[in-house]
Amino acid sequence: MLTQQYTTELHTASESDVLVVGGGPAGIAAAVSAARAGARTVLVERYGSLGGNLTAGLVGPCMTSFSLDGRTQLIRGVFDEFVRRMEDMGQALHPSRTSAADAYAGFIEYGHDKVTPFEPEAAKTVALRMCLEAGVELALHTFVCDSLVEDGQVRGVVTADKDGLRARRATVVVDCSADGDVAYRAGAATVSGRDSDGLVQPMTLFFRVSGIDDEAVERYVRAHTDDFRPFASIVAAAREAGRFPAPRMGVGMYKTLRPGVWRINTTRILGKDGTSTADLTAAEIEGREQALRLLDFFRAELPGFEKCELLDTAATVGVRETRRVTGEYVLTLEDLQTGRHFDDVIAMCAYPVDIHDPAGSGGGSDEKWGTANAYEIPYRSLVPRDIDQLLVAGRCASASHEAMAAIRVMPPAFAMGEAAGAAAALAVEAAVTARKIDIGALQRRLLIGGAYLGEQVSELSGT
Ligand SMILES: Cc1cc2nc3c(=O)[nH]c(=O)nc-3n(C[C@H](O)[C@H](O)[C@H](O)COP(=O)(O)OP(=O)(O)OC[C@H]3O[C@@H](n4cnc5c(N)ncnc54)[C@H](O)[C@@H]3O)c2cc1C
Repeated sequence: MLTQQYTTELHTASESDVLVVGGGPAGIAAAVSAARAGARTVLVERYGSLGGNLTAGLVGPCMTSFSLDGRTQLIRGVFDEFVRRMEDMGQALHPSRTSAADAYAGFIEYGHDKVTPFEPEAAKTVALRMCLEAGVELALHTFVCDSLVEDGQVRGVVTADKDGLRARRATVVVDCSADGDVAYRAGAATVSGRDSDGLVQPMTLFFRVSGIDDEAVERYVRAHTDDFRPFASIVAAAREAGRFPAPRMGVGMYKTLRPGVWRINTTRILGKDGTSTADLTAAEIEGREQALRLLDFFRAELPGFEKCELLDTAATVGVRETRRVTGEYVLTLEDLQTGRHFDDVIAMCAYPVDIHDPAGSGGGSDEKWGTANAYEIPYRSLVPRDIDQLLVAGRCASASHEAMAAIRVMPPAFAMGEAAGAAAALAVEAAVTARKIDIGALQRRLLIGGAYLGEQVSELSGT
């Protein structure tokens, strides 16, 4: 490999108590909760808007924030506030107003009760407002390319932006990059993919389509209940005849709040690594080609799609899986199946295991994994095993391939981020490392902030 020696003195762009890297669901919640706890907080995001997959990825709806039986709202706090503010603008439906198998849930029953449809533009605005109102200092258009490590502790990051290469120092860094970029560059252990062969879930470029006859789609799908996913039998016939342009069994489609506009989750890009620039570039190209071919197929063969138009493709291909940082605890499938109680619980969730086949066309949320009505995430899954003053939240938290396939969705990312932000602020305040914070104090703060941590922890709220 060709190499190039390059040394430079870095200007320090910021010094803060808490530095959050990545402004997706986890990073938004982490920054808001750290700043609300009084920490001087900087949020660094590579794009010009906040939201990550929630906005730039056009991913939606937010999957369930309720228990599997739909009775208890498990994810509240910052996520609930975020949704209610979008709802006040007429740009979201609170999950309590949606039901399993409805059009907002893509007609999917299992694990899809109480999803949150929302408009991505409102999500961008509400995320910005919540951060600014909490006192977060924003650094948009800023890419984190390295970590600063001294004496086994992360002390900040190196960023690349229009001002050049700069340092941003902080007492605690929260890695919400989804890829564990900070942890990885700091030398912390990470793992990727499934145990058997290391393959990761496929990528998908979301796109939105307008001009759909909503009633015709509903009529067709309701009349074809044998289809595993909407239009599965039409897709199967087309696949057999070589006419279906994506390695997928049905059409993933979610009605939005705008008449005739649906989100399409149907492109599938296999065998690409979301931490490789070459693979990401190839995936963007393949995703856009698939999207256009799918659009032609939809117009020609799907009832209700005859007059549809492409509204937009996502600004970035959606990456389902890359690095998972090895934490003090690795959350397992069994923990999710048994609903195991952790003394250091910081979030409760119920979205089931949802693995898109890393090597084929099948997969999705599936009853066969038998996850509990509600399960817990422990604080130790946010604490990297190998390095201090770093927390991780969202898609790069510490979990097995199967467990991450459940907690990877956006409401759990908000909940993990909220906990990591509060924990980072607590560590600064108490002048201890993030690993050593008082868990009871963290749980009390989360409860006061409106989080739900199950019956066993709710008694703490009064203390
Ligand atoms: C195709 C697809 C479909 C999905 N469907 C759904 C769904 O329907 N509902 C649902 O709830 N969830 C869904 N998910 C899961 C969900 O979108 C993500 O797992 C979730 O967004 C994770 O949140 P996060 O904050 O960890 O990461 P992200 O949303 O990925 O946010 C990470 C942020 O960090 C920024 N970033 C990354 N690296 C750097 C860096 N080095 N420097 C600076 N900034 C950086 C990114 O720009 C981004 O803003 C889907 C995911 C995919 C890919």
